[in-house]
Amino acid sequence: MPHPADLDLRPPGPLGSEGIRLERLGPARFRATLAAARGFPAVPNALQLRVRGAADTPLEIEAVFEHPEPRGQLDEYFHSATPNFATFLPLPWLEPINARRNRLLIPATGWDEFHLGMQFTYPAEALDAHIARWERHPHVRINLLGSSIEGRPIRRITITDTDSPVPLGARWHHYLANQHPGEGNARWRIAGMIDWLLSDEPAAVDLRRRAIVTAVPLLCPDGPANGWRRVNADGIDMNRCFRLEGPDEREQTREAFLFQTELETLHHGPTPVDTLWCMHTWPGIVEPIMDGLGPEFGRQVGDFEALAAAFREHGSPERIKPLRNREQPGMPTTWNGGPRRRYGITTALIEGGGDPAVLDEHRLAGAELMRIIAAFWRGTRAGSPPS
Ligand SMILES: [Zn+2]
Repeated sequence: MPHPADLDLRPPGPLGSEGIRLERLGPARFRATLAAARGFPAVPNALQLRVRGAADTPLEIEAVFEHPEPRGQLDEYFHSATPNFATFLPLPWLEPINARRNRLLIPATGWDEFHLGMQFTYPAEALDAHIARWERHPHVRINLLGSSIEGRPIRRITITDTDSPVPLGARWHHYLANQHPGEGNARWRIAGMIDWLLSDEPAAVDLRRRAIVTAVPLLCPDGPANGWRRVNADGIDMNRCFRLEGPDEREQTREAFLFQTELETLHHGPTPVDTLWCMHTWPGIVEPIMDGLGPEFGRQVGDFEALAAAFREHGSPERIKPLRNREQPGMPTTWNGGPRRRYGITTALIEGGGDPAVLDEHRLAGAELMRIIAAFWRGTRAGSPPS
């Protein structure tokens, strides 16, 4: 071996895995024993680390989770290597999924230093880079929802054409959010939605004139640095923390309280949220599920069948599955089921998209979703034709 690989884990880095234990098994072979997620002893943190000194050396990393009956699979999703959170090398597991022990082989990448993470990772630093680009657009406003338990900013992106003659209160308000910090592919989907919305495509220009789109692409910015797939620093599942009775600082974990306060404030204000899109992943292609249809259905916009038709027209069958509608909204503690019940608005759970494909597929799926929203929620919420 020209240079022994040097695995480096120096928090606070963009990616980490709380409690991980590393052992060297050979010149370029390592074992990484994963610790349990806060609050969930049977669920491992994601295998995430920073690798240095392996530019010319293929590396093998064995990941182990020692819980006798794991409930979260360490190898459920592909992992990837990236030097910069823009270029990614997907890394499939060498063994079949078994939740206990699996191996990744990282070929010599030529990268002196790179990050290894679950899915196409998208930490707070990647969001910062995207925001620096988005905020040059005159229709973008960036502000803070607040800060996370570990003190990281929770950024909110608001997009609308402030020069449009449509009054703000007459504009549709679509809200996009990602709750689970391990689901990077879902954040790349949101990035694709925003990139399309800020493009010069006529449908995007028109949507900015008659709608407000707000996005919180990373509700739990502490997650990626700690390898938390679903939880925050309090060990709370970030999609089991909506409070049906209303936001309460003493009853809710901080990020949930901040986000619910935001929804609540908007609900009672001049620009209430009409549609809430909760971005998640599971294996397979993107799987859209409507949790509930708001009062605009069958009035200012068509019915569910018309929305399903818009998905067929503007979505690709190889990227997005046919739209489903739920008889009953999801659990009241989820951000799809809870807001549906409390505010009566349209909520959607966008699942799937957890497979590798290539990075652009996830961005393109996002672009298609935004096109569907533009096509279906036509005109304005006030019912007037777009001007
Ligand atoms: Zn999720």
